[in-house]
Amino acid sequence: MLEIPGFKTCFYNSSFVCRRGFASSFKHGRPQRHKNKFKNTTVISKAKLKKTQDRLDTMNQEKIPFKKNDALIIVDVQKDFCPGGALAIPEGDIIIPYLNNCIQQAETEQIPVYYSRDFHPVVHPSFESQGGPWPAHCVQDTDGTKFHPDLYIADNAVFVTKGVRFDQDQNSVFDQTGLKYHLESAGVQRVWIGGLAMDVCVVDTVLDALASNLQAILLGEGTKPVTEQGGQSALEKMSNSGAVIYPTDSK
Ligand SMILES: [Zn+2]
Repeated sequence: MLEIPGFKTCFYNSSFVCRRGFASSFKHGRPQRHKNKFKNTTVISKAKLKKTQDRLDTMNQEKIPFKKNDALIIVDVQKDFCPGGALAIPEGDIIIPYLNNCIQQAETEQIPVYYSRDFHPVVHPSFESQGGPWPAHCVQDTDGTKFHPDLYIADNAVFVTKGVRFDQDQNSVFDQTGLKYHLESAGVQRVWIGGLAMDVCVVDTVLDALASNLQAILLGEGTKPVTEQGGQSALEKMSNSGAVIYPTDSK
């Protein structure tokens, strides 16, 4: 047996995280873990570790089957939604290597890439101070609104700003941004969607994409929820509404 201090269990029980920032969530063949007496230390067999690392490496180099008239939407991978941020999603940053792989492939294949960002006025109605459910986050022009520094920005990036209204929140990237009109004009028929958070802005974006007569594919390895329960509920809602969860057995 080999002791790997850098490994710890992830938000999902079936996930592993290592200090390189890779993450995986898969149902089958996951290594057994045995917590020992040392805090944050997990013991894992060498063979199982290799299998896990092979899976992580494969996942982060995976060929995404983009096709003509696709687009990629990266939802709110901003500092405030990552560890250390004002509204940190648990392990929100570990999806970044996977998303970067998707983005770089999209860029190479000339698939348009859209990056949304939450960008709230200081008195936004979603903030607890205004009676909303969330702590203040992504306040306009603060550091927290910036994209995570590890997120790859494609040459063909298009940025979509949302959450700017004083009278309501805009979780979905489609909500009053004109994105539906734009994608129709660009001939987009299918969208791949990943980012943060799965059970808030990502799920609403997926559902709005479907309502906009687009095919919608959730990047199951490229999103994380605020809560595990919320994530499961969001997955069911998206799947029942006709979205594809990619890869189909990822969660
Ligand atoms: Zn927000």
